[in-house]
Amino acid sequence: MPQSSIAARLPGNPPAAATAPAVEAPGGATPNAPALTSGQQSRPGLDLGSAPGAASVHLAPTAPGGGALNPAPAALAFSASEAPAGAALSSTPTQGRDIKGLPSLALKPSLPAIPAEPTKPAAPPTAPKPENFAQRAPEVRQEVLKKTGGSPETERAVAAALDWFKAHQSPDGRWSGQHFEDKCDCTAPAEIEADAAMTGITLLCYLGAGHTHLSEGPHRDGVKKALTWIVNRTDSSGDLRGGGGGGRDRGETMYSQTIAAVALCEAYAMTRDPWLEAPARRAVTFVARASTRGNTSASDTSVLGWQIMAIKSAQRAGFDVPTTAFDAARRWLDQTSSRNNPGRYAYAPGESPSPAATAEAMFVQQLLGHTRDEPRMRQSAEFILTTPPAWRREAATHYWYYATLALFQQQGDHWKTWNDSIARELLKNQHKDGHAKGSWDPQDPWSRLGGRVYQTAVCTLSLEVYYRYRLAEPQPKQ
Ligand SMILES: [Zn+2]
Repeated sequence: MPQSSIAARLPGNPPAAATAPAVEAPGGATPNAPALTSGQQSRPGLDLGSAPGAASVHLAPTAPGGGALNPAPAALAFSASEAPAGAALSSTPTQGRDIKGLPSLALKPSLPAIPAEPTKPAAPPTAPKPENFAQRAPEVRQEVLKKTGGSPETERAVAAALDWFKAHQSPDGRWSGQHFEDKCDCTAPAEIEADAAMTGITLLCYLGAGHTHLSEGPHRDGVKKALTWIVNRTDSSGDLRGGGGGGRDRGETMYSQTIAAVALCEAYAMTRDPWLEAPARRAVTFVARASTRGNTSASDTSVLGWQIMAIKSAQRAGFDVPTTAFDAARRWLDQTSSRNNPGRYAYAPGESPSPAATAEAMFVQQLLGHTRDEPRMRQSAEFILTTPPAWRREAATHYWYYATLALFQQQGDHWKTWNDSIARELLKNQHKDGHAKGSWDPQDPWSRLGGRVYQTAVCTLSLEVYYRYRLAEPQPKQ
């Protein structure tokens, strides 16, 4: 069975082998669409198995200096296996899910008190409200920045990063992790080819800072070209991994699929441009259907972050997608949390808890509706703060990204302490001059895998945290 996967692992933190039964998606069928199962990761090191015929790499990264990283940087794994042709993948809406913690808001405006004639029932009470990300708009977010810990310096760093991306976009609209530096002396190309992932995550940086293909400004054309590249790659089933449009060579991994789907959903949510609606809906439904295969368990805590985020991004866009992955996520988080200290999480059951796994788990718990006053959340925050960001000593920007998202939502002293460190480290280590100005050097094993484009995107998203997503209600007491 062809399988593509992307996984970063460190020695001493081997991935758990996990399989889930392939389950036929309910609803209408899309002929020949692939079904997806959760990944089967079974060996340490970086497992970059790709589509048949593609080059594969197997690396076992070590910490700078050769020692084991303690704690291990976050791992991220996401794999897809193809099922026999004919397995169904539909976009049939799933109604009436009881989603703990989500606001009870209807998708449509309220009807008049006394309708003239019988009307369709309102949307289910648990349906989330579509998000418009209004707080991202440059003219609005200065006020938000002041309240949440941002500064003119963090904003200048974000602007410089977006300029660097602009100068390194391919003529066809994508951001290539491997070929962005063909015409300059910027170093650190990616070790893998994952242009949909790179283009998706870079788009998230622009969208996070309020730049869309419809907004005025210097980045409108670049964003439009990038969105066009992804839309043109998305087939009728929502698959945007490329590699032959339905053949057995599926090109990129579900990691790419998920990130690009989040970008499409956010772009649609921000603009409501009908051009994007169908591709965004299809792409994220493809992810949601794949996620439901993990009904009994996730394969790795690190899988959950992007998976659950994709489904949330669909809800933010107003799409009704299957949310069975939420239930699987809850079970998985219970299985990987420490018995004596449930706010501490491991990447897999039986492994030791780590701040990196805890950061991702805490972020997912928040997406699932858990609030900052729960003891478990405070335990997570305290555990994360035992390993603050330190670029030179032990860079782990993927871990920092999740910790930044999670602690921002936690607010209070935990956030203030973390924010001081992360802002300082990221500002200090961004290139200030030359063609690389605005970018960051890949520092840790996972970032070297993704190269300069990926590294710069993760750092930029971390510096956009102040306005990228709204704080969950209620607002914290200051
Ligand atoms: Zn350059």
